Amino acid sequence: MALIVQKYGGTSVGSTERIIAVAEKIMATRAQGHDVVVVVSAMSGDTNRLIDLAKSITDRPKDCEFDVLLATGEQVTISLLSMALHSAGCPARSYTGTQVRILTDSAHTKARILDIDDKAIRADLTTGKVVVVAGFQGVDEQGNITTLGRGGSDTTAVALAAVLKADECQIYTDVDGVYTTDPRVVSEARRLDKICFEEMLEMASLGSKVLQIRAVEFASKYNVPLRVLSSFVEGTGTLIAPEDEIMEQALISGIAFNRDEAKLTILGVPNEPGIASQILAPIADANIEVDMIIQNLGADNSTADFTFTVHNNDYKNAFAVLENCAKSLNAKDVTGDTRIAKISLVGVGMRSHAGIASSMFTALSDESINIQMISTSEIKISVVVDEKYLELGIRALHTAFNLEKTEVK
Ligand code: ADP
Ligand code: ASP
Ligand code: MG
Repeated sequence: MALIVQKYGGTSVGSTERIIAVAEKIMATRAQGHDVVVVVSAMSGDTNRLIDLAKSITDRPKDCEFDVLLATGEQVTISLLSMALHSAGCPARSYTGTQVRILTDSAHTKARILDIDDKAIRADLTTGKVVVVAGFQGVDEQGNITTLGRGGSDTTAVALAAVLKADECQIYTDVDGVYTTDPRVVSEARRLDKICFEEMLEMASLGSKVLQIRAVEFASKYNVPLRVLSSFVEGTGTLIAPEDEIMEQALISGIAFNRDEAKLTILGVPNEPGIASQILAPIADANIEVDMIIQNLGADNSTADFTFTVHNNDYKNAFAVLENCAKSLNAKDVTGDTRIAKISLVGVGMRSHAGIASSMFTALSDESINIQMISTSEIKISVVVDEKYLELGIRALHTAFNLEKTEVK
């Protein structure tokens, strides 16, 4: 007998019919003799609907009230799923984050889980109940309701699995596993049987929203066996495992992409020590996160152009900060572009193979795609291109690196 944590995402519980189907899946797992703790998201579209409701009242809702609102989405699904289980004759009990006491810090809308009280859950499991927990939410020391950021139910599930020392954490979603790239964008994408934590972490942080980054971090830190599967079709999905458990490692495992970044450039700043920090300090002070950075020297070496990327939501603010900075540095101009996209190749095989960057650049140039920025780390190479070439670029790379064909075991 095993203890399994199962998480069902928004589409998987998107209607009452789906909720009844999920109840049946849970009962099938129980019929195999396993204990089951279930984490659910809000019904698909509900979190967005709640955000729109708030925005129709004010552009700047108070964070703590915003979280009280957002947390209601998951409260709907835990109760409906428990009702569906009861109707089918299965003992079950629902818990909000506060009821469990999923303790978080007080960073509303992006809170981090600090601790989970597992007493009540364990007691319910001993009496044969299925425990249904609301994803995406917690409570801080002061008793305020918090939420964990978009996609946060994944993190609730993994954190619960870690605390309960579950045998597996199963993330049920609307695709049957982790693919070489988003299968909704590239139909040739191939499902991976296994991917290692490090690669999954890069994929998630570079834009693959199939798992929330923190969920992968938690799973890796506490060694939680994590599997992504479909709630719609049967299958074994994708196992996310430590690197040494993956026997045959492909050179490149996947391609992640992100449309949500924007690029800003300050032109003609003095080429002197301290300028980069004078540009980026006010950006940091405005609480804006910077991703890629490049600096080019002018022909005479006396001035430089400084370019960086930020999240699209921060573009307007960053532009205003940069215009101020341009005045004090006597810079030539400030320009920006929101129609960019970042494409990233991810694979631990890069560590031991040279020439991947040049193959990547050749594949893009064969399609006449201009590379605007480049950044690399040990297991990824990212490029920024014009947004209109995003799909073409991903397809070109998918073919160039034989991602349809390589067998990963
Ligand atoms: P849920 O509501 O179940 O949490 P999400 O929409 O958050 O589902 O995540 C599943 C989606 O992630 C898929 O529908 C797919 O479009 C997207 N996705 C992005 N990159 C990948 C990838 N590499 N493999 C699988 N799915 C991906
Ligand atoms: N309902 C939340 C969201 O839509 C959390 C989740 O689904 O994981 O982001
Ligand atoms: Mg999700």
